Parts: sequence; structure tokens; C-alpha cells
Amino acid sequence: MRKRIVILGAGTGGTLVANRLRRLHPEDSAEIVVIDQDDEHVYQPGLLFLPFGPAEAGDLVRSRHGRLRRGVEFRQAPIDRVETGAQRVVLGDGRTVGYDVLVIATGAVLLPEETEGLTGPGWGEKVCTFYDLQGALALRAALARFAGGRLVVAVVDMPIKCPVAPLEFAFLADWHLRRRGLRERVELTYVTPLDAAFTRPVAAGALAGLLADKGVGLVTEFGTAAVDGPGGRLVSYDEREVGFDLAVVVPAHGGAAYVGRSPGLGDELNFVPVDRHTLQAAAAPDVFALGDAAGVPTSKAGSVAHFEGAAVVENVTRVLAGRPPAARFDGHANCFVETGHGKALLLDFNYDTEPLPGRYPWAAAGLPLLKQSRLNHLGKRAFPWLYWHALLPGRDLPGIGADMPVHGKKGR
Ligand SMILES: Cc1cc2nc3c(=O)[nH]c(=O)nc-3n(C[C@H](O)[C@H](O)[C@H](O)COP(=O)(O)OP(=O)(O)OC[C@H]3O[C@@H](n4cnc5c(N)ncnc54)[C@H](O)[C@@H]3O)c2cc1C
Repeated sequence: MRKRIVILGAGTGGTLVANRLRRLHPEDSAEIVVIDQDDEHVYQPGLLFLPFGPAEAGDLVRSRHGRLRRGVEFRQAPIDRVETGAQRVVLGDGRTVGYDVLVIATGAVLLPEETEGLTGPGWGEKVCTFYDLQGALALRAALARFAGGRLVVAVVDMPIKCPVAPLEFAFLADWHLRRRGLRERVELTYVTPLDAAFTRPVAAGALAGLLADKGVGLVTEFGTAAVDGPGGRLVSYDEREVGFDLAVVVPAHGGAAYVGRSPGLGDELNFVPVDRHTLQAAAAPDVFALGDAAGVPTSKAGSVAHFEGAAVVENVTRVLAGRPPAARFDGHANCFVETGHGKALLLDFNYDTEPLPGRYPWAAAGLPLLKQSRLNHLGKRAFPWLYWHALLPGRDLPGIGADMPVHGKKGR
């Protein structure tokens, strides 16, 4: 009998899994339905560059349905809830969609209203974010107006998408201000709720060193409780203050709101608890989650959604055939970290291995890890092409496997 696979979310994870599954399963054996609330796929890593000028908003956006292979059905509708007991998804208008296997790839949402004052007076003018398209464009205008003073880059709470992106913003801001001849007039500060510049110790040391080299102040263990736009102050839960003339804030994140309306599906932040290796949801054996939506102890990153996709595709196929999931995701993440001046460094890690120095993906001729290089910068700038033309269509990237390569890593 023809089975139905329903995929919630046509972003990075949902699109690549739909396309891989379509390749694997003939149309007469499986119907594949993808549901998303809108038809605008934003290349989110490009948002980092938008405030500094070189990217244009239109370059970052393509239609979602146009990224799906023929034979994948796209339905544009908001999801209201999932009823795992009844194996069905309820849409915003009350219609229902039944499934044999469900894949959740609805990502993470920004929750700026959760922080007192963040969206109050000054929001979009002297308090900005680059974490969505509208915010990145407002920040571009604010940066163009900025002629000196205190520029603060602040992460309100963890987890966030791409935890290196705010650090990259600080590095690029330093570079951008130097090019404009303003750097001497700017006090640049990075504010984080973590006890270090990054979550992983070896990389945290390297990244803190880079902040220091560039004269960026580091304020750690600062949980932002409130933002006072007119007064230009961030206030922490332990009543410390950081003053600003322009604040670039990464708001708190949560999972999609419908997860909270779906009995037993999500955790207190609306992320979906899953087995960290098979990505099978704790709520039901016929439900999987990947990407930012999944509650797994690795970065929320497009690279992670990509590597998770391999395990999800295999395990969905096994469950459809009445077998238990067997493919295992190892927590693999990699991130290019743009450091300004045409250079970037690269991090590669998984659940068990810290980001270490060495080379990736090949020991002899790969990109240098944890080290600034022009090659890494070129890799980051070339990535949008790979994203649209290889990663989303579900093609294999040459030399890039889902598991973290151990060769090439020094000090393991
Ligand atoms: C500024 C920035 C820089 C980044 N840089 C990098 C980087 O350099 N490298 C990297 O690997 N990653 C980076 N990322 C992270 C990366 O973009 C995400 O981790 C990745 O896109 C997650 O994919 P996803 O499929 O889980 O979610 P998404 O791609 O966000 O897709 C989720 C989809 O679900 C849909 N959806 C949500 N709720 C509903 C609902 N109720 N009804 C219907 N549809 C719904 C949304 O419309 C969306 O299409 C960056 C992110 C940002 C914001």
C-alpha cells in the first residue's frame, strides 16, 4: 500500500530530506507532502553579511516549492498542532493531514518579546538584530548612521542558531569600522550568557584570543534580563549593566509554537526531544525531528541539519518497512567563522570530539581547522552556491560525509 511521509517545514532540513526521500522511494510506493507556512526560503547564513553591505536581500531568498523535486507535494499552510496518537497534523484552518511517518523540521523561532524592553522604544533603530531579514536590513541602516560610540553585540540566552554568528558579527564589525576609519572612535563589546566566548573549550580559547586581538571587550555570564533602548543599557539578572549607543542583540530562541500545542511532543522551550543518534522522537516511534527543531546537544546549524538528514532518511525508510531505526547521527557540526580581513576559520566537531586543530575533510589537503585562512573565507563565500545547488537538492557533496572525519584532527 502507498505510504504517506509528511514533512513539516520546507527550510534547510525539510527540503533536503524531502528531496533525498523522493530519490529513494518511487512515487507509487510513497507520497511525500511538505507543509510550510510561507513560500520564501531565506539563506540564513547570508544574513550575517547583509548589515555590512556586500549582500542584497533579494540574493538570499528563493521560493520554497521551487527547491522541491518533482513528485514532492508542497502545501502552504500554518501548522496548528500534531496529534501523534491519531497520526495526523492539524492545519491552521482545521483541515487535517494523516501520515505514516512524520518528519519535523520547523526550525527555531526568535522570541524578542520574551526579554523586557527589547522590542520597546529604539527596537529596529538603536537596538537591532541580524537574525532575520527585516532585522538585518534595519541594522544595515543603523550601522550606516553609526559614527562612533559604544557598539555592543549581545546574546540574550542559549540555545541560538549558529552560535558562532554573533562572534562573526563582532569580528566583521571591527573590520567594517576600520575600513570606514571609525574604529578608534568605537568601543566594541561582546556580551554572552556563557562563561566563555563559545560553548566548546578549545574553540572558546581561540575565539576569545581573536576578540582580544581585535580589541573587542568580552563580558561573560551576563544573562540579559532587560534592554533599555532610550537609556542605552543592557541589564543582567544579577543587576550588572552594559551601556550602548548601538546594540546588536540575538534574541532568545524557542521551537515553533505549534509544538507546544501538540500533546506530548515538545519540551518546555518547544523543541522536540529525540534520541540523539537515531533522531526518533520521544513522543512516538513514527515521528522524527532534525535541524533546529530537534533537542539534541549539538549546534543549531544548517550543517547539522544536513548531516542529520542522512540518518533521518535511512531511519524513515526503515520504519516504513516495519523495522527499527538503525542509522546513527554522531553530532557532527561544522562552521566557518568569518573573522574579517578576507579570512575565516573552520570548526569541525561532534558529540564526543571538541573542535580541534588540523584539517577538514582530508588530513593532507583539507581546509585548516581552528586557524584563520583565506581558503576558509573563500569556502564560506562559495557556500551559497553549494547550498542551493547541491545541499538542498539532496546531492552528496564531494568528500563531505555525514560522520565527522577523525583523520586530520590533531590532539585527539
Ligand atoms: C544569522 C544566521 C547565520 C547563520 N549562519 C550559519 C552558518 O554559517 N552555517 C550553518 O551551518 N548554519 C548557519 N545558520 C543556521 C541555519 O540557517 C539553520 O540552523 C538552519 O537553516 C536550520 O534549518 P531547519 O530546517 O532546522 O530550519 P529552517 O531552515 O529555519 O526551516 C524551518 C521552516 O519551518 C517553517 N515553520 C515553522 N513553524 C511553522 C508552522 N507553524 N507552520 C508551518 N511552517 C512552519 C518555517 O517557515 C521554515 O520554513 C545561521 C542562522 C542565522 C540566523
